[in-house]
Amino acid sequence: MQNSKFSHSKLEGVARSAGGVCLLQFKIILFEAFCKKLHQKLLVQTLLYPFKVVRRRPINFEFCILNFAFLSRTFGAMNASLYIHIPFCRKLCGYCDFFKTMSLTHKSDVLARMAVEMAERAPMLEGKTLKTIYFGGGTPTVCTPEELGSLIRRAGEIFDTSAVEEITVEANPDDLTDDYLRRLRGVGVNRLSIGIQSFRDEDLRTMNRRHTAAEAVEAVRRARSAGFDNISIDLIYGLPEATLDDWRRSVECAIALGVEHISAYHLTIEERTPFGKRGVETAPEELSDEEYVTLCNLLREAGYEHYEISNFARLGRRSRHNSAYWQGTPYLGLGPGAHSFDGSHTRSWNPPALRHYLDGGAAESETLSETERYEEVVMVSLRTSEGVDLEALERRFGSEVRARFCGVAAPWVERGVLHRSDTHICFDESHWLISDSVIAEFFE
Ligand code: SF4
Repeated sequence: MQNSKFSHSKLEGVARSAGGVCLLQFKIILFEAFCKKLHQKLLVQTLLYPFKVVRRRPINFEFCILNFAFLSRTFGAMNASLYIHIPFCRKLCGYCDFFKTMSLTHKSDVLARMAVEMAERAPMLEGKTLKTIYFGGGTPTVCTPEELGSLIRRAGEIFDTSAVEEITVEANPDDLTDDYLRRLRGVGVNRLSIGIQSFRDEDLRTMNRRHTAAEAVEAVRRARSAGFDNISIDLIYGLPEATLDDWRRSVECAIALGVEHISAYHLTIEERTPFGKRGVETAPEELSDEEYVTLCNLLREAGYEHYEISNFARLGRRSRHNSAYWQGTPYLGLGPGAHSFDGSHTRSWNPPALRHYLDGGAAESETLSETERYEEVVMVSLRTSEGVDLEALERRFGSEVRARFCGVAAPWVERGVLHRSDTHICFDESHWLISDSVIAEFFE
């Protein structure tokens, strides 16, 4: 698979290099929309976005235009995503609750089973066009680039991958040698999500990470030299023993590296993890809150768009894969512990058990009620900068549900916690910290 197949659209390239929007670009956008038979309403709503949805924030026309291009390409009615869970790690992190194993004994068998599972479960995405492929884990970079490449090729044999735009691999910094990166690009991977977590060695040791801060910096530089122009990094805040200054330095280091995307999550301690068993505690809530505010402020000043409660992106560099999740796009998850969604009411998942998976054990599934689906849509949408699309809500759940939603939102709109436009209701960034308690109000 050639990289050029997945390059970003001409539109994004033009807009980025010009650093602004001209009439010609506007016409290109409209022409693209026409060619892709976009729903007229989406076009109108997106073009009106800066005026209606974020009226209390500075208008940024570049974000608006690229957001339009992004939406039009990513959320067409027949789009889908593929997630591949590589359940192997070379070392176990203290906080990690994902399904994984340190034994690589069955790695080849699992990869072979994934190729079979892909074909078996292909009917779920029948008639849909794959837009994104995501290798998560675990640690996908315990696989050779060629092993990952063979699954990408397999996807090309089974699905329509002619429109795939983003192929992401989650990576550990110390796996990213020059040779590995070159081969990874060679098999079609065009985005890296590097699990850095902190640029402070003490934090990395506490978390039992494999890399040092210096190695993380080097990994990003090497990825850049290898030609990756879409790099995301993960950071964790709320860490025990880290001060606000420590956190600020980590964020500043991320900014200095010029990565396109940053995901920052609060540390959570699950009972069955090493942290849980050792009784490790997160930072006090007050400090965590300060860390989140510091993160938002520093990244805003550095020009990142805060497009989801935990995610920040440079112009046109939102995660297409995760955004597809948040938009309710169907996705197929392969591998032990992986989840899938049919885009309507059915969620399914492979049990997190290697033997069950290798024996071809069936996925389990549940059918969501209308109420559960509504709650999911509200919760996920309110975590994004666009918020809840009121007309889409009405189309999907009816006018009574829309009215009820707006009624619950009204007091929060009055207090300035939520913004309401003609088309959307969304959080003000400064209130995302209390979003959980506000979102809970929308549930019956
Ligand atoms: S955080 Fe990532 S690398 Fe660490 S144990 Fe979990 S899956 Fe493996």
